[in-house]
Amino acid sequence: MPRLLIATTNAGKAREIGELLAGTGWECVSVREAGLPSIEVIETGRSYLENAVLKAETYAAVSGMPTLADDSGLEVDALDGAPGVISARFGGPSVGSDAERTALLLQRLEGVPMARRRARFRAVVALGLPGGQVFVREGVLPGRIALAPRGSSGFGYDPVLELADGRTVAELGDEKQTISHRAQAVRAMISVLQSLNEHASGAPSRHR
Ligand code: IMP
Repeated sequence: MPRLLIATTNAGKAREIGELLAGTGWECVSVREAGLPSIEVIETGRSYLENAVLKAETYAAVSGMPTLADDSGLEVDALDGAPGVISARFGGPSVGSDAERTALLLQRLEGVPMARRRARFRAVVALGLPGGQVFVREGVLPGRIALAPRGSSGFGYDPVLELADGRTVAELGDEKQTISHRAQAVRAMISVLQSLNEHASGAPSRHR
């Protein structure tokens, strides 16, 4: 079975992606399982796309393996799309935890009514091949920023992104894995992975 490097040091993300790609004919391996050093790829890009492509290309070049990388964030319309690509670093280095970043977000939205709290998680997944070819797919999970955090599953801003049915993402439990922005982007990449697999095994290819 061909091996696919999942270029993230976040064990939770690597496991989620591995589950989504089970049965596709690819064996997903983490950076550690591939025996690679953890490379700090500085996310200098101004977009999720630039960052995801940079990670995929860097790890594919170092490992010689097809590599999947992602970048994601939360976009809030009332904050002109912030925190966006800097979601993980929102508020700067003095804001150290997910709970603090979430509290800061709610503070910035104080007084903003529910009708103007539209927001979404967005994920971009890039597949880099050792020869330099790159494929990109995207997923979006729309909602609104709740007035206060609710729910205990997930991570990051999950407790404050409220979906159309009134639940926050942190109240979804395992269901998040079927609808999340990241799951949508990874699933959209499956046809590309299957096509590469068929190509490598000499079978006729259905996708380009
Ligand atoms: P990165 O993709 O690892 O750079 O992470 C981006 C940041 O966006 C995370 O640290 C979170 O703050 C936020 N984020 C991305 N996806 C999610 C999600 O599924 N739930 C909650 N927060 C998320």
